[in-house]
Amino acid sequence: MLPGPPLTLVDCGPKTPEAHAALEDGLVRAGARIEAVERIVLTHGHVDHFGLAATVARRSGAAVIAHEADVPKLAVDRWFLEPLRAWIAEAGFPPDVVEGLVADLRRYRHQLDPIRPTQVVRDGDRLPLADGALEVVHTPGHSQGHICLWDGEALISGDLLLEGISPNPLIEFDRDGRRLPTLPALLLSLKRVAALRPAVAYPGHGDPLTRPVERALELVQHHIQRREDLAQCLAAPPRTLRALAETWFPDLAQFNLVLGLSEVMGHLDLLADEGRLAITRRDGEIYYALAQPAAGATAPVAGIRRSDAGREG
Ligand SMILES: [Zn+2]
Ligand SMILES: [Zn+2]
Repeated sequence: MLPGPPLTLVDCGPKTPEAHAALEDGLVRAGARIEAVERIVLTHGHVDHFGLAATVARRSGAAVIAHEADVPKLAVDRWFLEPLRAWIAEAGFPPDVVEGLVADLRRYRHQLDPIRPTQVVRDGDRLPLADGALEVVHTPGHSQGHICLWDGEALISGDLLLEGISPNPLIEFDRDGRRLPTLPALLLSLKRVAALRPAVAYPGHGDPLTRPVERALELVQHHIQRREDLAQCLAAPPRTLRALAETWFPDLAQFNLVLGLSEVMGHLDLLADEGRLAITRRDGEIYYALAQPAAGATAPVAGIRRSDAGREG
């Protein structure tokens, strides 16, 4: 909660009795109450961040603000199911796996009410607050419409910067069904917030981060290292995404399957960006292998490059 004016709530939690009670308690402890909230800013359209927003808005009459790219998620528009089905099949899974994933998604449906923001924002927009303003920093990667809020010193970081957890570059599709390169976007977002040099970050989960720049760069390095680990895995006959993910995450449960596949897909995207990935299609499935360097070309250098881990954003 930001005291305002306007009294601002950043994210709301899921629509569960526990989260609702925790929100009420937290506001009371801060000297406020749900009815007094004037503005709700949603960092992104995941259920654990917006599930309660419609309830709070109904009780308070608060404005609801989110990035335009996450408006379909907040409306629980399921446009992505068809491209997701196609992608899962191409990854090497039978159709019943997809139906299991869809059933899992439905299981979260009771933890949210769909909501339509009263105001959509874009990168660089400023939200007035007391005698200053919060700047909207568009940070896609974990969710296409993810935003951080920046006041020149502190960063409200949503799920971009978390301690102990590496935010997942969740698989995502645009409205035309094209897959978005979520991990490359996430790395750019992390480098961008590191370049802001915040003194402190307030994440969507857990305690404030007192070394947010280091944490952002650590996450970038983690993914560069994983990219190289994956490159090692690919030095074998071409394999599907399923085969690669099962090598890395042998005990994946069905919902975590999407997280695991998203992560491996992200590292494949990083290799593809460097021209190091050979992609072939066979019987409706996609196979990945390391690209053979062209004759006379320099072999790609493994390891963390200075520019990847650098702070220049
Ligand atoms: Zn999230
Ligand atoms: Zn979250």
